Amino acid sequence: MNCLFCKIAAGNSPAKIFYDDKEIMIFADIMPRAEIHLLVCPKAHYKTLLDIPDDLLMKVINRIRVLATELGLEDNFRLILNNGAHSGQIVEHLHFHFMSNAPNVDLRFKSQSIGKS
Ligand code: AMP
Ligand code: ZN
Repeated sequence: MNCLFCKIAAGNSPAKIFYDDKEIMIFADIMPRAEIHLLVCPKAHYKTLLDIPDDLLMKVINRIRVLATELGLEDNFRLILNNGAHSGQIVEHLHFHFMSNAPNVDLRFKSQSIGKS
């Protein structure tokens, strides 16, 4: 499948990786529209919110809670999910935009691609 975020998940395309585990990855949006603009998504390919299984969706949401807490942004972030081509979804691999205009947050990215340190 020719999916950019699947390629990032497989380590075959570079991205500024903030976090990843077996099922979830968080990386910097290449065209940030806020001081902090991260993309949070399952590694497995699901096109939209209507496709992802409940348990995995809950893991993604919980990871967003952890992210917000770790960055000290409990009261200062927005989540955007463009769902479907008519909404402006360009990359057809489910992802949440995690955005904040909090200044001076020190984001420590772990690598330049999945699987490399
Ligand atoms: P959406 O319109 O919700 O599908 O958003 C797709 C997002 O992916 C946009 O904000 C793009 O800037 C971002 N994007 C596209 N290519 C890359 C990439 N190679 N690495 C990181 N983010 C990307
Ligand atoms: Zn994909």
